[in-house]
Formats: sequence, C-alpha cells, structure tokens
Amino acid sequence: MRTRRAALAAIAGAASLALTLSACGQSGEGGSKEEAGDAKGGTIGIAMPTKSSERWIADGNNVVKDLESKGYKTKLVYGEDDPDQQVGQIENLITQGVKALIVAAIDNKSMNNVLQQAKDANIPVISYDRLILGTENVDYYASFDNEKVGELQGNYIVEKLGLKDGSKKGPFNIELFAGSNDDNNTRYFFQGAMNVLQPYIDKKQLVVRSKQTALNQVTTLRWDGGTAQKRMDDILTSAYKSERVDAVLSPYDGISIGILSALKSDDYGSKSKPLPIVTGQDAEVASVKSIIADQQSMTVYKDTRELAKVASNMVDALLNGKKPEVNDEKTYDNGSKVVPAYLLEPVSVDKTNYKETVVDSGYIKESDLK
Ligand code: BGC
Repeated sequence: MRTRRAALAAIAGAASLALTLSACGQSGEGGSKEEAGDAKGGTIGIAMPTKSSERWIADGNNVVKDLESKGYKTKLVYGEDDPDQQVGQIENLITQGVKALIVAAIDNKSMNNVLQQAKDANIPVISYDRLILGTENVDYYASFDNEKVGELQGNYIVEKLGLKDGSKKGPFNIELFAGSNDDNNTRYFFQGAMNVLQPYIDKKQLVVRSKQTALNQVTTLRWDGGTAQKRMDDILTSAYKSERVDAVLSPYDGISIGILSALKSDDYGSKSKPLPIVTGQDAEVASVKSIIADQQSMTVYKDTRELAKVASNMVDALLNGKKPEVNDEKTYDNGSKVVPAYLLEPVSVDKTNYKETVVDSGYIKESDLK
C-alpha cells in the first residue's frame, strides 16, 4: 500500500512541476513586522481555505486554541475558496512577521512563489491536511491517512450491497464523485475507493452506467455541493431510464447533500424507489442528521481537534529547535521532496456507531443533532 501511495504521489508531483504559478492576490490586511511580536510567544499565521464548510471553521478555531495555550499569538485568515486571495493573505502574514505558517491550501499548486518568500524570511511552513505541491519550501505535513478515507468509503459500499461476503452478486449500478481537482487529497481519496471498487467494476458486479469512471470526469471543483447536484441530475437524466442507482461514491458531506437533493428530485427516497447508498466525509452536523434520518448512509469522521494538535505541536517543536514527531516519511512526495508527515486515522461512521464516535468524543453535541 505504501508503495502504491508513493507512486501516486510521484505522479502528482511530476504533473505539478509542469504547472506555472497563479498570480499573487491583493493584500487585505495591514500590519507591520513589529505587530507580530518577537521570538518567544511570537505570532503564528494560519491560512484556512473556506468558511463555507464547518470543518474548516473548527480547524481554524482549534489551531488557534492550541497555539494560544502554548503561549503563541495567532493570526487566522480564510481564503474563501479563492486561490489568489489566499496567496495574498499569506504574503500579508509574512510581511507582518509571523514566526511560522500553517497552511491548508485552496490550490495546492499556487503556493510556490509565496512559500519562497516564507523561506527567504526563515519562516517554517506546515502543510495542513492538504499537501502543497511543487515546492521544497514545505517543512512538514499534518494530515489523515487520505487513501484510507477512500478505502472506508469503498468498503462501506461493497459491504452494504452484499458483494463483499458474496451474499449478493449484483450487478448493481454505481456512480462516482470525487473532490476538487486542485486539492491533492482528491486523488488519494479516489484511489483508495477505487482500490476497493475497481475489482467489482471489472467483474461487472458494479456498473457505472454514466461510463464516467476516470478521475478527470468525476471531480467537483472546490468541493461544491451545487456542482455535484447538477452532475447527478444530468447523470440521472441521461443514463437512467427504468434502471436505478444503487450506490453513489461521494467524497465529502457537502457533495453528498447535493447528490441526495438530485436523487430526491427524481423520486428516490419514496416507498417504491429507495435511496442508494451514499457515502461522505467530515461528519458535518447536516450529514450526521441525514444519516440518522436514513438518507446519507455513512460519513468518514476525522477528528480535526487532533489534527490541530499535531500541527501546533509541529510548530512548537520547530520554533524550539526540536524535530517534530512524524509517523510517515515516504508517502507524501510533493514533486520536489518527500514531506515528512504525521498521519491520523479516519473512522467510518454510520447510524450504528455515530453515538460512540462523534457524540461520545464531544465532536458533535447530541443536542445539535435534534
Ligand atoms: C479535506 C476533506 C474535506 C474536503 C473539502 C479535503 O482536503 O481533507 O476533509 O472534506 O477537503 O473541504
């Protein structure tokens, strides 16, 4: 598995080298070097991708909390899914004299110039959740086992269809969705899922009626639920007449909600036309509610509180001249180097275990699910 991942990362990296950089964005904030404070207790810059999804709001808040508990000041910015804006924000953080940067990139290939500026200013960079590609100026990577996320989604589908234990043979109809093509995680999630699903597609026990099976046919720009809804609508119209969809591979809860809307507009969820299995990721409140209501089937829970801790610990170690703790030094080749990583474990969640997982751990309050 590690070899497969390394190979995948190498391909991703090589492709990225051919790409040029996007233009630098506008500076939205003022501030001077002095503002960010001096060495000990200095300011850490945190650049998150968007506030349109719960997880990133929680990520930002958790990183701030962890760093502040270690005595740092913080500056947290959100790029609103606009790569140029995010690059501009990071330039600003550098100008303000931050001591380290934690970056969850919007476009993983747009960071080369701005991270050179960070390097020149001696600012270490942690790639947060999403690997930044095509630059040596990324020091460490904090994330989850991204391929495993896809494997959990793929496994859920083959188990629930009865293909795994051989109790059913199919054929079953499945449609495939992937995340944003500028997010390096997308290919890992998809690859992980296809490792499980492809053998059944080859044996024709799973049939993709739309024939859209290549990653570049199934991506969803900026993980947008509306875009996914439109694509699902189009697929239902063009590839399904009397046939039914039995499963949909969805990489992220916001996309799953879009897919479910398209299905419901086509009468799925009625007595005579049950909803297909629909996967997801992030354990967002709306999706956990949907799971409890027997609509979305599962999600992949990634405890972002733990991820925030990993990233904060990395910064703290680096600023104290220590080596951050890592548990993977070969999987994540960004095209310029293998970035040492600490990877956390994702967890499969459905109606049978959401209480023990997301509720008992305090990730989601039971009252928010009412
Ligand atoms: C993250 C996922 C998230 C997706 C959309 C990915 O990079 O790893 O957790 O669902 O972005 O925000």
